[in-house]
Amino acid sequence: MVPGVRLIVFGRQGAGKGTQCIRLARHFVVPHISTGDILRAAIKSGTELGHKVESVIAGGNLVTDELMLEIVDDRLQKPDARNRGFILDGFPRTIPQAQGLMDLLQPRGLDRAIDLDVPEDIVLHRLSIRRVCRDCGANYSTKKRPHTNWTCDVCGGEVWQRPDDTEEAIRQRLDLYAAQTEPLTKWFADQGLLSVVDGVGITDEVTERLLKAIEDARR
Ligand code: AMP
Repeated sequence: MVPGVRLIVFGRQGAGKGTQCIRLARHFVVPHISTGDILRAAIKSGTELGHKVESVIAGGNLVTDELMLEIVDDRLQKPDARNRGFILDGFPRTIPQAQGLMDLLQPRGLDRAIDLDVPEDIVLHRLSIRRVCRDCGANYSTKKRPHTNWTCDVCGGEVWQRPDDTEEAIRQRLDLYAAQTEPLTKWFADQGLLSVVDGVGITDEVTERLLKAIEDARR
């Protein structure tokens, strides 16, 4: 057990952030905070936030920086994140979000920002065959299970195709990633906080690379 760390993980949609962040959160015994999961849960339970963001997400667009910062600020104030740390997955996605986050994290700051790097052609393919559990968010692939309807191995929930995993929304999300999120690599590199980790390969190998990058940066 290696407790306590403050990390953000960003990377193209379909780079494997969700899977890897769950593993890192277990390793470091900190909460995995996925802003996509928070927003999807709000939509599913029909809250005011959910109504506000539903069409934005379905269209592959970004929720406003102000709203996202409010949501993340709220979550980071909870005792688990305050006392132990966190793995932030899917946030920040823009430079104003990164600036806002760094303000929220004062005085201790952030340990590391990790760019999980997978080329666009590979993520396009991964997203088109991706299926997820509506309840717990576990990821599956139609390559491994060609039939269309199945239940989740983890929680028994319904496995479906995310409404923003359509070709049009995927294209929009990748364009937005290039325009708004990719500039974060330079932004975090300028602050001496960036590690780029190759996200191509089998899941265990990628986890090993991530852990090594984090340990190297802590030395
Ligand atoms: P994800 O599961 O991380 O791909 O997030 C799904 C969707 O939620 C995104 O396509 C956005 O519409 C929205 N979203 C999640 N995180 C953010 C963020 N940091 N800023 C803006 N929108 C976000």
